[in-house]
Amino acid sequence: MSQPAERMTAPAPTPIGHFIGGKARAGESGRASDVFNPATGAVTGRVALASAAEIDAAVAAAQRAFRPWAETSPLRRARVMFRFRELVERDLDRLAAIITAEHGKVLSDAKGEVQRGLEVVEFATGIPELLKGEYTEQVASGVDAWSFRQPLGVCAGITPFNFPAMVPMWMFPMAIACGNTFVLKPSERDPSASLALAELFREAGLPDGVFNVVHGDKVAVDALLAHPDVQAVSFVGSTPVARHVYTTGTAAGKRVQALGGAKNHMIVMPDADLAQAVDALVGAAYGSAGERCMAISVAVAVAGAADPLVERLAPKVRALKVCDGSDPSAEMGPVVTGEHRARILSYLDEGIRAGARLVVDGRGLRVAGREGGFFLGGSLFDGVTPEMRIYREEIFGPVLCVVRVPDFATALELVNAHEYGNGTALYTRDGNTAREFVHRVQVGMVGVNVPIPVPMAFHSFGGWKRSLFGDHHAHGPEAVRFYTRVKAVTERWPTTSSGPAFSMPTLS
Ligand code: NAD
Repeated sequence: MSQPAERMTAPAPTPIGHFIGGKARAGESGRASDVFNPATGAVTGRVALASAAEIDAAVAAAQRAFRPWAETSPLRRARVMFRFRELVERDLDRLAAIITAEHGKVLSDAKGEVQRGLEVVEFATGIPELLKGEYTEQVASGVDAWSFRQPLGVCAGITPFNFPAMVPMWMFPMAIACGNTFVLKPSERDPSASLALAELFREAGLPDGVFNVVHGDKVAVDALLAHPDVQAVSFVGSTPVARHVYTTGTAAGKRVQALGGAKNHMIVMPDADLAQAVDALVGAAYGSAGERCMAISVAVAVAGAADPLVERLAPKVRALKVCDGSDPSAEMGPVVTGEHRARILSYLDEGIRAGARLVVDGRGLRVAGREGGFFLGGSLFDGVTPEMRIYREEIFGPVLCVVRVPDFATALELVNAHEYGNGTALYTRDGNTAREFVHRVQVGMVGVNVPIPVPMAFHSFGGWKRSLFGDHHAHGPEAVRFYTRVKAVTERWPTTSSGPAFSMPTLS
């Protein structure tokens, strides 16, 4: 079979190794995985897949670095964060290009994800204020009580392919600002952004071993989950793996937050501003080729909203400019791998078999000069019902399902009955409906006339139900709680002894 031109002329794949103890380290396990440029289909890198021994080396480096870093004052730690912030901003274009080359998303979107990650770094610069404890003078005569937070030790992060910079940046800046050290295991599908961030953090003055990056697959993840020196694990990825990480990590006595998959619904009421709702849906369903955990994948059209919504959506979906994400005019790039593309195609077939109406069919798209790329056009299904697999399961691609319901109560029941509860949105002009929705919806992140309600860095990010296993959400104040533990002190300085006390001390 003849190969596309890009594959024949592509240079040899670059080996991609680890970053341990402040140094780049080649993989030693003998196992590696292909990294693609999704726009051309070419294999551009071979990423090392760590063995348990390499995980040991990274955790040992982090463990050695822990005590001195924890002893570094919060103000000094914040100064390193300030410098890191400046360097990431300096290299924003380079970082975005790295992301686009391995993930496929359009450049402006790649820059956006780095910016959203930087906002967490900015929040982390406030760590001296965030770590201030609580103090009560004179809880009893001559007795004072106070509590404060201390770091945990070595923390690990395991991250998905869809935000190779932002999701790691939800985790490591906060963990490190709190005084922990960190081992990041990024997605093996787009591994280079995390290495670039590690180099910038070192340039910012972060001591060696405080931030380590180890690439790998299940072997590396399971080694982190079993490692006795890893105190806490933050995970973001699909629900089956999130559950595995949560159950295995907590059984090993670790603190775990595991964020999983999503099926985000946007309800469109008949009184909504339809032009706004349609634009919001097109961006939220097809931006980043639908590979966002906060993408809207279900539009719930209430009563009379349905026909005009589908009529207005269809031409906009057909007109999406889909091409290489590095083309500044691109609105949507390819999906991440050929395998993922095949999975999305199988969902499109499944939806047709189940009787949904494929109003816009993105299957036949060809991008001139990029015949080897993993492209799909936007697809739009109407007449989707809750029993269909395309409704129940996360497709994670540029596919929007329209479900028609008679009224708001049915729409709300539908959202609440779904197993996922990551994000949701309502488009309406009615304040009472909006208030009811916010109050009653069983979802962690809610938008009113906002299609992708991702909380800012100084709030916390997380879903409900099978979209999050654990107690703490990511970044914001919840991250300070997750990455620290409380110590409560009761103190007095008596000048004489009042003799031994054999009963429980009380104030009476
Ligand atoms: P994934 O679950 O396949 O992989 C996530 C991480 O787990 C990767 O680092 C991967 O190497 C590792 N991993 C994969 N299989 C494993 C296994 N069997 N055992 C141990 N580790 C394993 O997810 P993905 O395809 O990279 O990312 C897409 C998914 O992530 C979607 O489901 C999306 O909704 C979800 N996501 C959720 C959020 C959120 O905030 N809730 C954010 C981003 C992405």
